[in-house]
Amino acid sequence: MSLKNYILDIQGFPKEGILFKDITPLLINADASKNCLKILVSSLKDKKIDKVIGVESRGFLFGMLIAQEVNVGFVPVRKPNKLPYKTISATYDLEYGTDTLEIHIDAIQKGDRVVIHDDVLATGGTIKAVCELVERLGGEIVQCNFIMELSFLNGREKVKEQEIFAVIRY
Ligand code: IMP
Repeated sequence: MSLKNYILDIQGFPKEGILFKDITPLLINADASKNCLKILVSSLKDKKIDKVIGVESRGFLFGMLIAQEVNVGFVPVRKPNKLPYKTISATYDLEYGTDTLEIHIDAIQKGDRVVIHDDVLATGGTIKAVCELVERLGGEIVQCNFIMELSFLNGREKVKEQEIFAVIRY
């Protein structure tokens, strides 16, 4: 069965007018989530990778699993004031207001080859901010990968120079 069958459309979440794509039916199904992980990992075949980054919070779910599969360390990028050690931060625009993400300053070494994972690529603001954090620490971005890309929101345009991979596209 197509993995699209494990993504649930929720109308009006988290607020009216938004169609939210929910991955919990995928997570609850062992075969579907293993298949999703397999596809994510196979997209990295033959690439040299030093670290996998997962973006809070749904990016942690498969981010850590990908890191284990490719046998490298995992780095969390988190919302403000969650990481205990010294951090750098990047702020980006949302439809209303701004949001900020942080990374530990010693999480990436200069020249590290980094894969960034998140559950969804929507408008691209989040991934652009994470790319900025990695580049400020001297990392090289090998690929940005996602479970889902909402391609009608043109998120790729914000990170044109990056390789983007998504298991499912809408
Ligand atoms: P962007 O910054 O607009 O690309 O939004 C991507 C971020 O928002 C990701 O961290 C996602 O977790 C979250 N997101 C946006 N839309 C959805 C959705 O439909 N389902 C689940 N997460 C979403």
